[in-house]
Parts: sequence; C-alpha cells; structure tokens
Amino acid sequence: MNKNETDTLAIVKPDAFGSGKAGRIIAHLEGAGFRVVAATVKHLTRPEAQAFYAVHRERPFFDSLVDFMTSGPCMPMLLRRENAVPELRRAIGATDPAEAEDGTVRALYAESKERNAIHASDSPENAEIEISFFFAGTDRLSG
Ligand code: ATP
Ligand code: MG
Repeated sequence: MNKNETDTLAIVKPDAFGSGKAGRIIAHLEGAGFRVVAATVKHLTRPEAQAFYAVHRERPFFDSLVDFMTSGPCMPMLLRRENAVPELRRAIGATDPAEAEDGTVRALYAESKERNAIHASDSPENAEIEISFFFAGTDRLSG
C-alpha cells in the first residue's frame, strides 16, 4: 500500500444496486482512481440501518431513510486511494442529484435526494467507524 493511500467506505444503495447500476458505479470509481479492497452484498435489517445512520435519528427523513436502506440489498465497499475520503465525496457529488456536479455518480445514477445511489463516509474518523461496521475482520495493511 502506497503510504499516502487512505481508506473510506462507500455503499451502493438499494436503488442503484436493485436496478443493476453497481457495475457501472464501480467502474466509474475505479476510473477515478479508487481500488476496491473489500466488498459485500447485504440486505440491512432495520436495527442495522438505524445504527449506521444513527447521527440522523432526530431528522424528519430518518424513518423514510431506514425504509429505503432496508428495501433491498446494498453493496458496502472498502475503497482505497490517496486522500480517499474527500476524493470519494467529490466523486459522488451533492446529496441531491439536482445539485450534483456534472459527471458525478449521483448526477449520473441517483433518482432523488433520498434515493441517491451511493453513500460515502464524510470524515476519516467516520470512515474508520463505518469500515468497522461492515469489514471488522478485513486486513487493512495499514500502520
Ligand atoms: P450519505 O451519508 O448517504 O453519504 P450525504 O452525506 O450526502 O449522504 P446526509 O445528510 O448524510 O447526506 O444524509 C444521509 C442520507 O439521507 C442521504 O444520502 C439521503 O439518502 C437521505 N436524505 C438526506 N436528506 C434528505 C432529505 N431532505 N429528504 C430525504 N432524504 C434525505
Ligand atoms: Mg452523510
């Protein structure tokens, strides 16, 4: 592992996974310099989705977000490149696809502000927590 590389977590959300967009999204991210270090396909339970998005539990969209994230399987991925966290946020675009920059994953593949195709960790600290959530046993090759 290049010493400047760091890790982040992405999830191809149930809208994109269920409509057959996972392959194109992975190809897009590989084209943007990310390597897939680990990946899985998982249908989240409600307690898992509530725990993953616990930071949003007081928000008005929380129950709807949990409904959406448990509506079908999703694809969590551990991604690696230089400056992974901010570079992945840049590559996916704004939360609302109507505001996402041209060429970003959400501009290309998201349906709406809720059904927005992909999740990405928003800080290195949260990336570590979120990677542990899905890939606790994975060899990180770091340190
Ligand atoms: P994510 O955390 O999934 O990468 P984000 O960081 O761009 O997305 P957050 O503010 O963390 O956005 O919101 C988490 C998710 O909750 C969004 O990606 C979206 O699916 C949903 N969401 C956020 N705001 C709204 C809203 N106003 N209405 C409906 N759904 C929303
Ligand atoms: Mg977020």
